[in-house]
Amino acid sequence: MFPKNGSAGSRARLSVLRSAIALSFAILLLAATASSSAYQASPKLVVILIIDQFRGDYLERYHQEFGANGFRLFTDRGAYFPACYYQYANTRTAPGHATIATGAYSPAHGIFSNEWWDPAQKRAVTSVEDSATKLIGAEVEGIGSSPHNLLAGTLGDELRLATQGQSRVYGIALKDRSAILSTGHSANGAFWIDPDNGAWLTSTYYMSAPPRWLLAFNGQDSAKKYLSLEWKDTDGTLLASTAPHNFDNGKPVPYFQLVGSTPFGNDYEFDFARELIQQEKLGYGAVTDLLVISLSANDILGHMTGPDAPEMRAMALALDRQIGDFVTFLGQQYGQGQFWVVLTADHGIAPLHATDKHLNLPAQSPSSSDLRARLNTDLSARLRKQGEYIRSVSYPIVFVNSEAFPPNVSEAEAETHVAEAMKSSGFLAAFTKEQMGNGELPPTPLGHLYLNSYSPYGGAWVMGVPAPFSYVAAGIDIANHGAPYSYDQHVPLAFYGSAFKPGVYRDQVEPIDLAPTLAVTLGINKPTSSSGRVLTEAIAQRSRSDETGPPVPPKPRVSKESYP
Ligand SMILES: [Zn+2]
Repeated sequence: MFPKNGSAGSRARLSVLRSAIALSFAILLLAATASSSAYQASPKLVVILIIDQFRGDYLERYHQEFGANGFRLFTDRGAYFPACYYQYANTRTAPGHATIATGAYSPAHGIFSNEWWDPAQKRAVTSVEDSATKLIGAEVEGIGSSPHNLLAGTLGDELRLATQGQSRVYGIALKDRSAILSTGHSANGAFWIDPDNGAWLTSTYYMSAPPRWLLAFNGQDSAKKYLSLEWKDTDGTLLASTAPHNFDNGKPVPYFQLVGSTPFGNDYEFDFARELIQQEKLGYGAVTDLLVISLSANDILGHMTGPDAPEMRAMALALDRQIGDFVTFLGQQYGQGQFWVVLTADHGIAPLHATDKHLNLPAQSPSSSDLRARLNTDLSARLRKQGEYIRSVSYPIVFVNSEAFPPNVSEAEAETHVAEAMKSSGFLAAFTKEQMGNGELPPTPLGHLYLNSYSPYGGAWVMGVPAPFSYVAAGIDIANHGAPYSYDQHVPLAFYGSAFKPGVYRDQVEPIDLAPTLAVTLGINKPTSSSGRVLTEAIAQRSRSDETGPPVPPKPRVSKESYP
């Protein structure tokens, strides 16, 4: 018979039941929060989504229009940092991707621009081109690309080191520099497209021959699927067509721009990511794998329309659905709680000059060629000798043709001459590479940004401080980035996965914090040169029972009767 209420037996049974429930909860909590470890494949896969040119404020601007499983997964259910700003001046694609991966700025990883002058080869080079490698994957000529200029290790490198090469690390982007610099030296593969026809490529740096599945993917005309499509807004307005056509000069618009400036460019990347995951069985090994996807389409479009155009809003809403679909796919592959996704961007973008004018904001629009001519005229007068003292301008970086200067003028002095000419040409200030390398910068917040932009590469150069809202608008680029201002520095940062504590964290953080935060959560070393902060506030804590010290052996039972 069941004892009556209040009997000693009932209380004892209830107490046992309570303890059992408490214990199961503790175990559940432990399983959910304390078990992340790269060595235990927990999670199975980490995905880092880097949106090329995506300002942090877009997540708030379009929040009400987003669905539940795209960006809101990060802002509403993830650990979301709405104030993430790059603390350097060279807010460009190659430096941004290198910074995210290494958890460090340009002085540590060396990547300060998308391209620069190579004094040894006496020609301009891109940040990743490598004449020791070849392109493979499709019928294509030309030298390959590699991370040979990257001077620091990456999160991917540390994951590979920690697991003695068992973890697999892959990168995907429409741009070579984005796929390569975001993954690092020891990546198993980085894939990007042939700008002309969209075929997926890699280089002999990663593998001697392309995988069979990649050749098959290219052979299935996966790229052509996105040609001759119409991109319409949610209300049916035609925003763009991907029907092949020519520029005014008769040359065909390349796939990179034709499809790459529409949401179909992101679809194409996610198609390839799904294929890579399934073919390489990513996330099915004994340790954690890493996949970095850099979504290039936002940047290609954003340069052509500016950040506030209806097309950019439509692109963000399309990407919201695409990310939702991709996360659903990850859930189907691995099960909930078995994968993490991190969201960030390589840089933002300045408002259009037309927008600035409309709002009475001061804006200048120098053209690179004008600036070069003006600087050459100024320097010819200063040095009393006509010359081509400026090699090229990648605004606001000016590459100095030091050979044009008289032999008694050192490279550092040539840079100083150019800096002086830049200051009389509209720049608020100009810092030489020599100054930046020696740390001879003003002890101000602005000086700190330029200190973080130094690189030993590029021959002689000077980095200018443009006035806020000023940038070069030329060719199809009517908007631009690359300045030391908030509109170029502000990017999203959010972590979604079982190891992270959901919440909105409003302290100002930096993209260099991403890699060390993931490293400590996975139980591996942070990247070699990382100077970022571990965002401990966003990491889920182990349950209390796990924090009370070593287990205490039970005391021997002593009955009351034995006391004196
Ligand atoms: Zn760009």
